[in-house]
Amino acid sequence: MTDCLFCKIAAGAIPSRQAYSDDRVYAFHDIAPKAPTHVLVIPRKHIAKLADAGPDDRELVGEVVARAAAIARDLGLEHYRLVANNGEGAGQTVFHLHFHVMGGRPMAWPPG
Ligand code: AMP
Ligand code: ZN
Repeated sequence: MTDCLFCKIAAGAIPSRQAYSDDRVYAFHDIAPKAPTHVLVIPRKHIAKLADAGPDDRELVGEVVARAAAIARDLGLEHYRLVANNGEGAGQTVFHLHFHVMGGRPMAWPPG
């Protein structure tokens, strides 16, 4: 067990409100939602940020993104925002790759 918050959540060592689970991908509702629906979709494999995903991770990252779309659909979202903050300067606070699925309200563009 690493010291990573999202590794612990994926392992069930820290509780979360599960939205999806399989042996490669886990998804859970954000603890501080910024939209009526706000789910985080992560690979179970620890990758700190998108820029750290290597050639061997291409299929996994694609699977996580495709799963995010499936989760959004299953949650009834037709319009939603899919966001990956890469690095502190972009707003990343948890350094385990995650995609935010946010929907249920109008989304402004560009994001702040
Ligand atoms: P980011 O700022 O892109 O790194 O996103 C991290 C997200 O994780 C934020 O939206 C937080 O609200 C969320 N978060 C932090 N701790 C937890 C937790 N224990 N359970 C669920 N979501 C969390
Ligand atoms: Zn991790």
